Amino acid sequence: MVSVSGITPSGRLTLGNHLGALRRFGADSAGDDFYFVADLHAMTTKHDPRRLARLTREAATLMLAAGLPPGSVFIQSAVPAHAQLAYLLECTSYVGELSRMIQYKEKGNGRPMTRASLFTYPCLMAADILLYGAEKVPVGGDQDQHVELARDIAIRFNREYGETFVVPQLEKAKQAARVRDLATPTAKMDKSAPDDAIGTIRLLDPPDVIRRQVMRAVTDSGDEVRHDYEQKPGVTNLLEILAACTDGDAVELATAYSSYGQLKTDVAEAVLAVIEPLQKRYADLATDQAELDSILAAGRDRAIEAAQPRLRAALHAMGLNG
Ligand code: ATP
Ligand code: MG
Repeated sequence: MVSVSGITPSGRLTLGNHLGALRRFGADSAGDDFYFVADLHAMTTKHDPRRLARLTREAATLMLAAGLPPGSVFIQSAVPAHAQLAYLLECTSYVGELSRMIQYKEKGNGRPMTRASLFTYPCLMAADILLYGAEKVPVGGDQDQHVELARDIAIRFNREYGETFVVPQLEKAKQAARVRDLATPTAKMDKSAPDDAIGTIRLLDPPDVIRRQVMRAVTDSGDEVRHDYEQKPGVTNLLEILAACTDGDAVELATAYSSYGQLKTDVAEAVLAVIEPLQKRYADLATDQAELDSILAAGRDRAIEAAQPRLRAALHAMGLNG
């Protein structure tokens, strides 16, 4: 089964990105998948070109460090078919359905200076998925609505223009679908948070910084360790993180703790046990930039070849025969 998924280089990658996405890609990958750094998606809000280039490379290196097969990793903008198919899909999508996307409503917030690409983002994401005939799309919970839309777009295209695309399945995360911010545990941990946001654990931060962040995590009133998102969002987030890092069950883990302090110490150690090996592999890969270039070039060439037949079929189906 072919899986396709991407990570947007809109900031330095977080623990949420690893537990909700990266780590799952690596675990499942049979070598026939497509994992990309979604640099085109990082331009839907104001961006700095140099920072984007740096973050793109960092994200690609982290994907490889997380264990993805080298041939499956590439950079989205290096494969022109993504933008080409996205335009065709914009021509099959409706303003009404795009306006309903939560991410657009939250990030655009009705402001006239919102980039048009933020509005059409789900069409590019649908293209990312449909180009490769993805059967599975492993993403964190915040992307469910976009994957549902990609399914709707594929079904509509096939009905109106003839059978062209595989209709993908959403693959929901079983664990860590939504890692929360450590300082504001009612909100998702986002990599586009400001660089100095204390509630965001960055995968490449020094271990002592990460340990300190966990120890400073906001907890809730009282001192009972209980899994309860409504009454105890901070503690529950820590339990969820601990469960994801140790492959345990968050509700069961709660019964083992009688104080917040011990829970935090164990969370910090569990997080570092996941992050430190990743940082080591990252450092090894980063020492040879020429090798990295050639890995990414091979990934790009494979993706270009794989994307071509479906792009051509879609063009022809819509009457574009030039
Ligand atoms: P941004 O703030 O730019 O939206 P992000 O942290 O949400 O960044 P994305 O590039 O949008 O990251 O998503 C990459 C992958 O990581 C997606 O599969 C997404 O569902 C997953 N993901 C992102 N944040 C979390 C989180 N806090 N918990 C679990 N999964 C997450
Ligand atoms: Mg996001």
